[in-house]
Amino acid sequence: MSGTHLELAGRVLPRVGIALTERPGAQPVWNLPAEASAKIAGRTESATSFEHLIDCHMRWMLLDVLRLSRGRFAEIPDANQLLGNLAHEIANQVLQPGPVEEAAVIADKVNAVFDELLGAIASPLQQPELAGELAAARVRVPDSLVRLAELLRHKGLDVVGTELERAASFPDGLEVQGRLDLLVRDAQQHLGVIDLKWTRSAKRRVTEFSEGRAFQLATYSAIADPEKGIPADGAYYLLNQRQLLGLSGSRLADDEVEGQSLAATWAGLIGTWSSWRNFALGGRMVATGIAENEIHRPDALGHAPGEAPCQYCELTSLCRIYEGTTGS
Ligand code: SF4
Repeated sequence: MSGTHLELAGRVLPRVGIALTERPGAQPVWNLPAEASAKIAGRTESATSFEHLIDCHMRWMLLDVLRLSRGRFAEIPDANQLLGNLAHEIANQVLQPGPVEEAAVIADKVNAVFDELLGAIASPLQQPELAGELAAARVRVPDSLVRLAELLRHKGLDVVGTELERAASFPDGLEVQGRLDLLVRDAQQHLGVIDLKWTRSAKRRVTEFSEGRAFQLATYSAIADPEKGIPADGAYYLLNQRQLLGLSGSRLADDEVEGQSLAATWAGLIGTWSSWRNFALGGRMVATGIAENEIHRPDALGHAPGEAPCQYCELTSLCRIYEGTTGS
């Protein structure tokens, strides 16, 4: 093909030669244009964006600040995700604000909505190949929510609400929002956040507590009561294991784990956010998985990146981590 233009469908398309440039190689620190840094002002963080930030500064900048997305194909979630969605929605419907009803009432309510919600939000579970999972869920989901109701009643906890949107402001312009699965209150009006998880194993959540890295729960605890600004107690309810898991001394927890308080985890989170934010405002972005040592990180990070920040990252081809390092 030659010439200065070509015609296509009645349109004239000009052809101009361009200079080829080398694709950039992997590097620990990238310079940010001023427009990118400017997008940091006025943004609102979430538990997910905090998790991105702690694991990799570049991931947070690209996904959360610059909102880079490769788009989504419509896809059917896997059975585990469907079961989690179903259990969450059933809990949302049967745990109404006020004192928790007796186990038998909760069981009746779960069974009454199970099939309707199954068809509405988790219908792929009705496929023949998932018959085993569905049969197990018909027993486990009601058992699990009945057990949760028993635990809440035993601890004298009332339901404040489910799927509650909360937003709060903190010093240095930090704005945070999130949706709480379940907010409860004891007789002394102390609030507690319970995050519902459908998971194969309790191990990950136990490790989060023991290593002081329960970032999602610490975030929800910090925003649960934005008017008073008092951090709430927090726990995970593991639906599959029927375990109410929290830190040692928690009024919510039934199974306790020794670890750093949620307030201390939150304080570390704020410090980490502040350090990385200032770094980006200074015009630099760090690919944490490529930055092999602490020279590339701000001083005194409250929480260091996880051990394998790139393991679940969708940006490997963008930061070019597997294509060799060109230095910083
Ligand atoms: S692959 Fe690793 S280094 Fe690259 S953006 Fe993701 S987490 Fe960061």
